[in-house]
Amino acid sequence: MCGIVGYIGKKEAYPILIKGLKRLEYRGYDSAGVALSDQNGIHLCKTRGKVDDLSAKCEHLEKSPRIGLGHTRWATHGEPSDVNSHPHYSNSGDLVIIHNGIIENYDPLRKELMNRGYSFTSETDTEVLVNLIEDVMVNEEVKLGKAVQVALNQTIGAYAIAVMDKKKPNEIVVARLGSPLAIGVGDDEYFIASDATPFIEYTKDAIYLNDGEMAVLRTHKPLKIRNIKDDSLIDPYVQKLQMNLDQIEKGGYDHFMLKEIFEQPSAIADTYRGRMLADRGIINMSGIEDNLDKFRNAKRIIIAACGTSWHAGLVAEYIFEDIARTPVEVEYASEFRYRNPIIGEGDVLIAISQSGETADTMAAIEIAKQNGAFVFGVCNVVGSSISRASHAGAYTHAGPEIGVASTKAFTTQITILSLIALRIGKEKGNLSKTEYFSYLRELELIPDKIKKSLVSNDHIYLVADAYKNAKNCLYLGRGFNFPVALEGALKLKEISYIHAEGYPAAEMKHGPIALIDEEMPVVVIATKLGHYEKVVSNIQEIKSRKGKIIAIVTEGDEQVKEMADHTIEVPETHEAFTPLLTTIPLQLLSYHIAVMLGRNVDQPRNLAKSVTVE
Ligand code: GLU
Repeated sequence: MCGIVGYIGKKEAYPILIKGLKRLEYRGYDSAGVALSDQNGIHLCKTRGKVDDLSAKCEHLEKSPRIGLGHTRWATHGEPSDVNSHPHYSNSGDLVIIHNGIIENYDPLRKELMNRGYSFTSETDTEVLVNLIEDVMVNEEVKLGKAVQVALNQTIGAYAIAVMDKKKPNEIVVARLGSPLAIGVGDDEYFIASDATPFIEYTKDAIYLNDGEMAVLRTHKPLKIRNIKDDSLIDPYVQKLQMNLDQIEKGGYDHFMLKEIFEQPSAIADTYRGRMLADRGIINMSGIEDNLDKFRNAKRIIIAACGTSWHAGLVAEYIFEDIARTPVEVEYASEFRYRNPIIGEGDVLIAISQSGETADTMAAIEIAKQNGAFVFGVCNVVGSSISRASHAGAYTHAGPEIGVASTKAFTTQITILSLIALRIGKEKGNLSKTEYFSYLRELELIPDKIKKSLVSNDHIYLVADAYKNAKNCLYLGRGFNFPVALEGALKLKEISYIHAEGYPAAEMKHGPIALIDEEMPVVVIATKLGHYEKVVSNIQEIKSRKGKIIAIVTEGDEQVKEMADHTIEVPETHEAFTPLLTTIPLQLLSYHIAVMLGRNVDQPRNLAKSVTVE
């Protein structure tokens, strides 16, 4: 899940690499490194820690070279340490490599290379790969590009790599399989990166390498893309990027996460804009319209996702079954892929992933496709692997999400999935005209209602202050808000490191109630519609055991207010859309607690944003 970046052209490479690495740091921040190449050789600087640590360490590095590579690591093979940091040299010191992914057969390759006299300084799979490339170069007397190709054909696993040869300070060879790699095409210069954010300020022309492709980048020469397996030449497809720089800067907020929480009204509006005309009862998404039969006739819908996207899938299960009346199963992609799942023609698989690069979800898609299912991707990152691997799909239009803990991606995913459910529900005649129109009008009001929910921010700050020292926390919800309880608990865990569990409220008495005492904060989603009375009873049960109750209630609620220690209000809406509102205070609560505890909110420990390894 590392971030890789590279530059070759007329400018000084170093500042481009460092700025690019900062933008890619969400992908991993165990260590960082750069390699710069000029006529005098390759100069390397790397360290355990973050990009700021790297800049400090590289103070004395000669900064004039116009070609270089940079890497920010999320360790898979070998602990986060200076020596395991990328870039990695080959044994001769002629080659350097940066790598995002996993070489699964690194161990036999390593042993084989050791038998041939190679030695290794790091524990990484990556160092094996660079030496394998060197070995091919020496034994087969081929140039770097060919050697990379031959070596990659001997590997099993996933990679986005960039390699430089000391003897050729005007060339970078890149390749990808499973991990993303974008090439920015400038005026006689090329940028490479795991996503387009490092080069967006220099060029809007991008080529996204497809799986199994490699390219040789040279100054004063057009780039050449080849298929790694069969060596065929591929015509580069240059895309015009729509993203701008403002969208990826913090815009006055202390953290990206806070900015992204506050962006939700506009992100949701952007997601339905042009797709829903509430007054005219129109929902029009080309990915759905072109495949309406598949959705209408689907025997069932399987949703495959991971993490927060999986929670969005659970919300969608409730919405789809309620509105579209199609049976839905929600699967952890990581389990689905290894379970010999029953899936085939007539099934629709919806794959949800913010980054569109989630390795497990990608694998689930492949299985579904092999078995004849129709695959629909819901991604945020345009041009991402999942969006390309799907038969059809819809982007969430949330804009770049940089904070590692997902916020606006979650609510925009729910928005897209609601639109799909409504479109199918209408097609199948499950909704009266009045019901259908009322859903659409209500969805249109959600951005304003989120703005109202965000007004509670100061109040939530005080609630956070009261519970910041808790060791554990329970989150309870029912119906549409059960997945919100799971998501609330996940948010708290991932950024504050406080242990938290989400449960369907009624399940509490089957176990978790044993945990409740005066030390245990319990966040209960108790909005008016749905199972209000039942949740009120659950609150009574917690109260009787002296648990502390933080309740998320509908505006004007009096009953729960009397019982709860704290209440946070959200506006009223259709029950199906309550998750879009109730999730907001839970995001803010986690955010404030994490900030108060001095956590690195945007880059929580051990996590990375785009999980491109399984
Ligand atoms: N396998 C490489 C390492 O551990 C790259 C890791 C990654 O892309 O997450 O250094």
